[in-house]
Amino acid sequence: MHSADVAILGAGMVGVSAALHLQARGRDVALIDRHAAAGLETSFGNAGLIERASIFPYLFPRDPKKLALYAFNLLPEAQYHPGALFDVAPWLWRYYKESAPDRVARNSAALRPLIERCLTEHEAFINAAGAGDLLRKTGWIKLYRTQQTMDIGAAEAEKLRAYGLKIDTLDAAELARREPHLKGAAGGVHYLDPASVDDPSRLAQVYADLFVARGGRFLTGYAHGIQEATDGRWSVATHDGALITRDIVVALGPWSDLVYHAFGYDFPMAVKRGYHMHYAPLHDASLARPVLDADNGYVLAPMSRGIRLTSGAEFARRDSPPTPVQIERTEPIARKLFPLGERLDAKPWMGCRPCLPDMLPILGKAPRHDGLWFDFGHQHHGLTLGPVCGRLLAEMMTGETPFTDPAPYRADRF
Ligand SMILES: Cc1cc2nc3c(=O)[nH]c(=O)nc-3n(C[C@H](O)[C@H](O)[C@H](O)COP(=O)(O)OP(=O)(O)OC[C@H]3O[C@@H](n4cnc5c(N)ncnc54)[C@H](O)[C@@H]3O)c2cc1C
Repeated sequence: MHSADVAILGAGMVGVSAALHLQARGRDVALIDRHAAAGLETSFGNAGLIERASIFPYLFPRDPKKLALYAFNLLPEAQYHPGALFDVAPWLWRYYKESAPDRVARNSAALRPLIERCLTEHEAFINAAGAGDLLRKTGWIKLYRTQQTMDIGAAEAEKLRAYGLKIDTLDAAELARREPHLKGAAGGVHYLDPASVDDPSRLAQVYADLFVARGGRFLTGYAHGIQEATDGRWSVATHDGALITRDIVVALGPWSDLVYHAFGYDFPMAVKRGYHMHYAPLHDASLARPVLDADNGYVLAPMSRGIRLTSGAEFARRDSPPTPVQIERTEPIARKLFPLGERLDAKPWMGCRPCLPDMLPILGKAPRHDGLWFDFGHQHHGLTLGPVCGRLLAEMMTGETPFTDPAPYRADRF
């Protein structure tokens, strides 16, 4: 039998980051995952953006014309499984309500302290790991296909300047200068503050290696083997035997319900599934940064493995078989934008963004169990927010003064 101060369940970007922050505060931490390495699930396949410019959360659209098109699955950026509508509709209704202007103002104010520190927290880990080569500080570009959508996008970007962001509005010529291999865009908005990585999974592994090099333990095991021990401690089954701990952190991303349901909690968490496919660029074409084709709802991101096309959201049951129609629909559009060559993956990768309707994570103590802590639901921004949320959680767990008021993320807000 082993013991530790804290067991962190889940070694995605969120769990690994919490592990490093708790370890830095003197806790003996064990990180537990069903895989033998970190960052192999949702944190594997994202677009690699550390989205410092994401001042407003992703919202449910309120334009009736767009809603009608979504209802018939006619737009590539969002799809749903009609057979899952009964399960998904109540959540979508809550998401719709949380996207009303007054709620958006509240939720974006709650998100801002996390977004403002997201890159600083990553840089601290990256510098400590000596992995500066992983970070690309070239921002990202949201590009538009028509002058009409460009004008709307530019006006939206103007509003973000009030938050101190560095933003360049690009006409077609300036866009071509910054990204010479793109064709067919009317212009774009270059967000300069965000950074990106060319292998998000490797970043999680570098952080996990740093954690182990500093004396942390990485164990394999299945999270359903948790029991409350009689002395107020927890017993976690691992492949190396039982681990006894004082605190447990649930950082299982889209699978966090496995644990919170077992302890009688029910949160309105749904998943927005997403896909990726890699392509070999033709004729040595390259991208200097991720680009979002805003009119068609997909991202092209330069990755170590090739150009990664990531899809928008698919509303479906988490565990139903993959239906990568969004990759099939956007690939021909993307090929006209950038010279994509052959596919490099045998089949599209699928991941599940874990989402609460207000697009804020659940972060903090479980309301009815001492020693049980939550850190999940980071929606479109788990790579971005992992380290900063790890800091806040560690501050709460060790009794430090939190750098921001954690109340907006508490588990009993629903
Ligand atoms: C297509 C797509 C693009 C995205 N782009 C971006 C982006 O550019 N920037 C950004 O910030 N975010 C992005 N995201 C979101 C981001 O990837 C997620 O929010 C983030 O990866 C969630 O991290 P996590 O650690 O909570 O979950 P995960 O990475 O899924 O980690 C959960 C861990 O729990 C483990 N686990 C699960 N069940 C068990 C069990 N029973 N026992 C033991 N272990 C278990 C898993 O093996 C896994 O390692 C994107 C997501 C998708 C799908």
